[in-house]
Amino acid sequence: MDRVWIVLWLGLFFAVSPLIVADDTLVAGRSVFDENRYIEYIPGDLPLIISAPHGGRLKPASIPDRKKGVLLADGATDLLAMEIVTAFQQQMGKTPHVIICHLKRLKLDCNREIEEAAQGSGEAELAWREFHGFIEQARATVIKNNGAGLYIDLHGHGHPELRLELGYLLSKKQLQGSDQEVNRLENRSSMRELSEGRKISFAELLRGDLSFGALMQKRGFPSVPSPKFPHAGEAKYFNGGYNTRRYGSRDGGVISGFQLECPGKSVRNSKKNRQAFAKAFVAAVMEYMKSHQVLGQEE
Ligand SMILES: [Zn+2]
Repeated sequence: MDRVWIVLWLGLFFAVSPLIVADDTLVAGRSVFDENRYIEYIPGDLPLIISAPHGGRLKPASIPDRKKGVLLADGATDLLAMEIVTAFQQQMGKTPHVIICHLKRLKLDCNREIEEAAQGSGEAELAWREFHGFIEQARATVIKNNGAGLYIDLHGHGHPELRLELGYLLSKKQLQGSDQEVNRLENRSSMRELSEGRKISFAELLRGDLSFGALMQKRGFPSVPSPKFPHAGEAKYFNGGYNTRRYGSRDGGVISGFQLECPGKSVRNSKKNRQAFAKAFVAAVMEYMKSHQVLGQEE
């Protein structure tokens, strides 16, 4: 009986390990796909991981439509992610790790637990596992090569305020607190690890002069939180979902992250806007990673 258990555990280990071990055969910038080509992984050579769970367009008849939850796609966030890859390669000669779900959200939601995500479809469940397996692989590579990293879950919102909404797992109400109050919430945030032990306070990291919101705002993309918009006020605001909880550092680990929600009109809805956004994003994220020691000083 004992031997049976050992064999079972070993089998399980070898079945799971390829998903969580850095894969040195991958080439930065060269896409790999799952067998059905539902999920695309562009391996990178920067300590930055970007996932785009809601921009997919494929509607295979073999996967039934989802019935419950949010079914509306985040239009053109697949193209936005690709534009970001191109901008990084042009401006930096480097590539972030990018994971894109090409299935329409009506078929699969890669920013939910598997039950709500796939709603019983085995084919959709398989794609969900591939999506998250690729993110785990990217994380293992980043940790192996750099020791720390940044994760961004890329989305699109339809709110009337044309602002980037940065979700750090703090609610709209929590962000309405004073800086002192916000500082006490560090360990509830997906930025916990990046914030701990730093010279600047947690509130400054979220909405001070070197916050991601500030760095995008100064490049022409209004952002919340930021020095100008320290919280969303009464407006609608997304504060981060399943992926941000799972891949940020709230529950531990050396990779911090946030959810980035982009408006349609000023960011996603034309190639020109996507290019302008991607250019600003590359400059902002590089400045951010340098300022907060995600990148080595020599970079
Ligand atoms: Zn979304």
